[in-house]
Amino acid sequence: MSTYIYDGNVYQTRSPLNGLEGYIAATAVSGAILSPLAYIGKLPVRQIKKEEQYNPIYKDCLYKALHKSGLYDMGVDIIKAQNADISPEYKSGRNAAYLIPDKKVIINTNKSACLGFHELGHAMNNLMSKYGIKYLTKMRYPGYVIAGIMEYFAIFSRTKPKEAQRNIMDIIEDNCGKIAFLAMMPMVAEEAIASIRGMKLAEEAGLPKELRQNMKKLLSKALMTYGGKAVLGGLAVYASRKIMDYFTRPKNIGNFDLFS
Ligand SMILES: [Zn+2]
Repeated sequence: MSTYIYDGNVYQTRSPLNGLEGYIAATAVSGAILSPLAYIGKLPVRQIKKEEQYNPIYKDCLYKALHKSGLYDMGVDIIKAQNADISPEYKSGRNAAYLIPDKKVIINTNKSACLGFHELGHAMNNLMSKYGIKYLTKMRYPGYVIAGIMEYFAIFSRTKPKEAQRNIMDIIEDNCGKIAFLAMMPMVAEEAIASIRGMKLAEEAGLPKELRQNMKKLLSKALMTYGGKAVLGGLAVYASRKIMDYFTRPKNIGNFDLFS
């Protein structure tokens, strides 16, 4: 550790040990902030299992929706995950996906056809949207990457006093929590729109009202997992940044005049 003068004030630099302490504290606090996500993530999975008893009805309507929406004519098709060489997440029916380049919905049609309407919603977002929503589909993955990068900006040591002139890196570091949250918004918005469109497709395909209500609950829970990631992820990045500032920012130990 050493002292130096900046703008009439005396500062004490921090040791690498302070950086390590900050990192440990930031990791612990982020972990605590993110811990509810494990619970939130289980909610849709539980309901998917409950809906399995109605699967034949969902499946019948799903194929009707695929044709009625015009998506089939645009080249969209459903891949039966149960027969495909694909990750267990999809094979088991716990999750479904829409693959943009292949125009394929991947789904276990014997277990979780209820998820298919939302995936067709993604297909509509990508193939039948005007500029705005199309832009969201293009932004979601870069946004996800930017949010991930912000986790690194959150744990950099601060070597400059608070009063020192800020450059672009400082501005990003100061706002990394907000940037992480905002970067995930295109994903949350696109998921919400896919669900709204999926609900509409289900109605048009004649899915009974009771099952549409179940599906609405399921899709709300699924959206909560995305919203939760954005909110809690942003908060975890924000908290890590504050903690690292506290541990690594050079300390102002008084006015230079007091020492001279
Ligand atoms: Zn989705």
